[in-house]
Amino acid sequence: MTDCLFCKIGEGSVPSDTVFEDESVKVFKDIHPKAPVHLLVIPKSHVDSVMNLEPAHAEMVSSLIYAAKKIARELGLAGYKLVFNVGREGGQVIDHLHLHLLGGWSGRADNDAPLHI
Ligand code: 5GP
Ligand code: ZN
Repeated sequence: MTDCLFCKIGEGSVPSDTVFEDESVKVFKDIHPKAPVHLLVIPKSHVDSVMNLEPAHAEMVSSLIYAAKKIARELGLAGYKLVFNVGREGGQVIDHLHLHLLGGWSGRADNDAPLHI
């Protein structure tokens, strides 16, 4: 979508602090972090919201969760939250599907290693 901030971040025309990307997914730091580690996991293709998901999106949605799991493991997070805000009443402000990865409060698997994000 031409006028979508997260489509632009996905294609790289708007800069982001990217920690992972492949052909279909991008993971970048939230600009206003609500946790010591706060990343956003987005599909590069546009879908507004969980509300508009269809069966054909199933593989894409699982790829978001899998990317979050992979990055959390690489960062040594002992536990974390994965959150979809859905609709305005659910706290969704950006109308491009995104999975929040929140963690880093304590108990990293390797407590001596610095966080890399
Ligand atoms: P929502 O409330 O829609 O679930 O979450 C949107 C998130 O996007 C918020 O946590 C907000 O801080 C983040 N955000 C908004 N604009 C930008 C931006 O331009 N860059 C980055 N990295 N994050 C953004
Ligand atoms: Zn978009």
